[in-house]
Amino acid sequence: MIDDTIISLSEKSIQNNISFLRSKLGDKVKISAVVKANAYGHGIEQIVPVFNKYGIDHFSVFYYSEALRVYNCLSKTASIMVMGWLSEKDIKDAIEKGIEFFVFNMERLQLAVKYAKELGVKAKIHLETETGMNRSGLNREELNAAIAIVKENIEYIELTGFCTHLAGAESVSNHFRIQNQLQRYQEMASELEANNLTPKYKHVANSAASIVYPETRMDLVRVGIMLYGFWSSTEVFVQYINNQEYRVDPLNRILGWQSQIMALKEVKSGEFVGYGISYLAQSKITTALVPVGYSFGYSRSLSNKGRVLIRGHQCSVIGVVNMNMMIVDVTHLKKVEVGDKVVLIGKQGKSEIKVSAFSEISDELNYEILAHLSESITRRVIK
Ligand SMILES: *Cc1c(COP(=O)(O)O)cnc(C)c1O
Repeated sequence: MIDDTIISLSEKSIQNNISFLRSKLGDKVKISAVVKANAYGHGIEQIVPVFNKYGIDHFSVFYYSEALRVYNCLSKTASIMVMGWLSEKDIKDAIEKGIEFFVFNMERLQLAVKYAKELGVKAKIHLETETGMNRSGLNREELNAAIAIVKENIEYIELTGFCTHLAGAESVSNHFRIQNQLQRYQEMASELEANNLTPKYKHVANSAASIVYPETRMDLVRVGIMLYGFWSSTEVFVQYINNQEYRVDPLNRILGWQSQIMALKEVKSGEFVGYGISYLAQSKITTALVPVGYSFGYSRSLSNKGRVLIRGHQCSVIGVVNMNMMIVDVTHLKKVEVGDKVVLIGKQGKSEIKVSAFSEISDELNYEILAHLSESITRRVIK
């Protein structure tokens, strides 16, 4: 762990976001908290217990290694769902541990049956269908074949879910495509019904769909980005807020990121700062060195563009962001000292650096910036 550069996680904001989602989605809809990519960079080990404390008992991940991390910080009563990749050996382990997983091809279904028989326990599967995203999922013929296998092996298979993923619910431009997907999903769901198979959860929605298309909430929603206090896109936020009496953002960001000044330096007018010639001091300036670089997830594309807060004031990143360091201009600060706190994301005084400010400058999505935050940064939950 690297000292003095810390990601802080606000427990109050977590509580706020969960209670907003609960009120919005109603009691009948199960919330599955998506904690893939190290809980969107927030930290699985820190986030999962707090989500659980405020009533979340279903978690979704992409890799099996993430599922195990969630498993190790939870009580037995919570469910874990792998939406992505597991190896053959993982499938066996998952069945043994009662971990749910998506089945998007016949190979996987056959392996699930094989190991469930071997272990003498039911495999908890979610049949994922292909409805138009053309990424992963069973097409219609495969679904029919899968139905036959499930029926034949019903002692070994628990049909926990029937699901699909929508191709871009966060943008109106995809409206037509989404409607087609929903229609195909319903047709395929009828196929299940006709075969007397009733999945425990029908689910298709991510954060954006759960807000923009209320009919997609069904039994369970897979919510990622909104739990962390971000809207999937400006469009989704606008759509939500336009229907509200009080136009206040109901979500709170959970994550803050801070470091400190490592060294200060005077640079003469006419000198270049850092590697290469991307920044030329136009007058005498004072620079502060901050021990954070792209290896921590502070993107190199923020070179000469990023901003940080020191003593409540905005300071510009100058020169190229290095692997472990960046240089900021502190000439305009009346007082500045080595050890001063540097806010990379979050508030200080009346100023704030938002994740979205990063994305405006660097073309990265909120999702991408968060997912890049290095696992080696210390994370702390703040009450
Ligand atoms: C990541 C993911 C989600 C969550 O998406 P958000 O936009 O963060 O809510 C839901 N479903 C699947 C299949 C995903 O991969």
